[in-house]
Amino acid sequence: MCPYEAIKRDPETGKVEIDLQKCQVCGICYSACPVSAVEIVYYDYATLVNYVKKMREERKSDTLVLMCRGNSPSTREIEHILKNQGLSVKNYIPLRLPCSGRVPTDFLLKTLKLGIKSIVSIQCEDAFCRFKEGTKISTRRFILTKNVLDQLGLDKNSVRVIKHSRKAVYDTEKCVGCDKCVFICPYKAIEPEPFATPKILNEECMGCGACALVCPYDAIQVEGFEFENVLKLYTESARKLKAEGKFPVILVFCCQWAEFSVLDNPESLLLKKAVVLEVPCFKSLDPGHVINALHNGFDGVMAAVCSNEDCKLQEGGETAERNMTVLKNALKKIDLLERFELYRISPRCTDDFNQKLEEFSRRIAALPRLEVEAKPNV
Ligand code: SF4
Ligand code: SF4
Repeated sequence: MCPYEAIKRDPETGKVEIDLQKCQVCGICYSACPVSAVEIVYYDYATLVNYVKKMREERKSDTLVLMCRGNSPSTREIEHILKNQGLSVKNYIPLRLPCSGRVPTDFLLKTLKLGIKSIVSIQCEDAFCRFKEGTKISTRRFILTKNVLDQLGLDKNSVRVIKHSRKAVYDTEKCVGCDKCVFICPYKAIEPEPFATPKILNEECMGCGACALVCPYDAIQVEGFEFENVLKLYTESARKLKAEGKFPVILVFCCQWAEFSVLDNPESLLLKKAVVLEVPCFKSLDPGHVINALHNGFDGVMAAVCSNEDCKLQEGGETAERNMTVLKNALKKIDLLERFELYRISPRCTDDFNQKLEEFSRRIAALPRLEVEAKPNV
């Protein structure tokens, strides 16, 4: 069942072992094991159940919305996605996970027992699933749950699946038809059109953002990661933390699959005077954001990135390295190089992210404070 062939049975001893170098921490084995023989560090059954109990109490809601991280950059997108599907849900319990394939059927049934009346799972389209089989497994699990509910005489429509994936979108008013985006797309998802804006093949687009980075006119962006929105998010955060007298204030750009817990609970970092923003892949991060963040009051910027072997997108690692060279040269020229660092991290090592953040914060704390500069953003 493991999509990464990380689980093997020793032919001599019969013992089942997990190869941690191959494991991508998708959690599919954990959610599928009928005798709960696999333990998992993130999002285990008890943690998920306790979260739903707590949130049900706090929000007085009986609707649970599960979503894959890959299709929803943040909880603010949920209402929009639900509305597009004709669902008007204002008060709900959001549960954001790296992959919906890691949710066991027992958990779905338990939440219904706890008083949840409706479960909506917003999951990535099959071909978009970053964990290869996660969406397919999750879909089968929801069909199973519906059948169980039906056989028990309960409402099978209380569980519902919506498939949604982030895609690149054009601003045709800005596009000059230069076709740079056509050549950069590693998925051949953009077709040139004679003397016009190219065409995005939605079924091929993986939302990697490589096209957005090369467009000289900001005419193509990935939904939810638009340049101006990202800029606004960190600019506001920096000013607020600075106004509170915090130092050193750190911005972390983090690949969506390089870290698990912190990305689903970004407020936990505020105590550490850090703000985390996730990116679909580090290759799509505009180096201009790092410079803008330092000009807007952050004392340091850290990138938390998957290793090349763990990258879930084509050419992600290699492109990120090329972009890094450009960025480091630019930072050197403006004397800000020591305020940036890129770390390779993985959710396999549970405390990797926090350790790197502490290491980086100590280094930045030894430097003078950076004030907000009245410079135009790049
Ligand atoms: S790179 Fe930008 S301007 Fe050029 S064709 Fe693509 S979207 Fe249009
Ligand atoms: S987001 Fe990535 S996959 Fe989609 S069109 Fe742009 S480069 Fe291609």
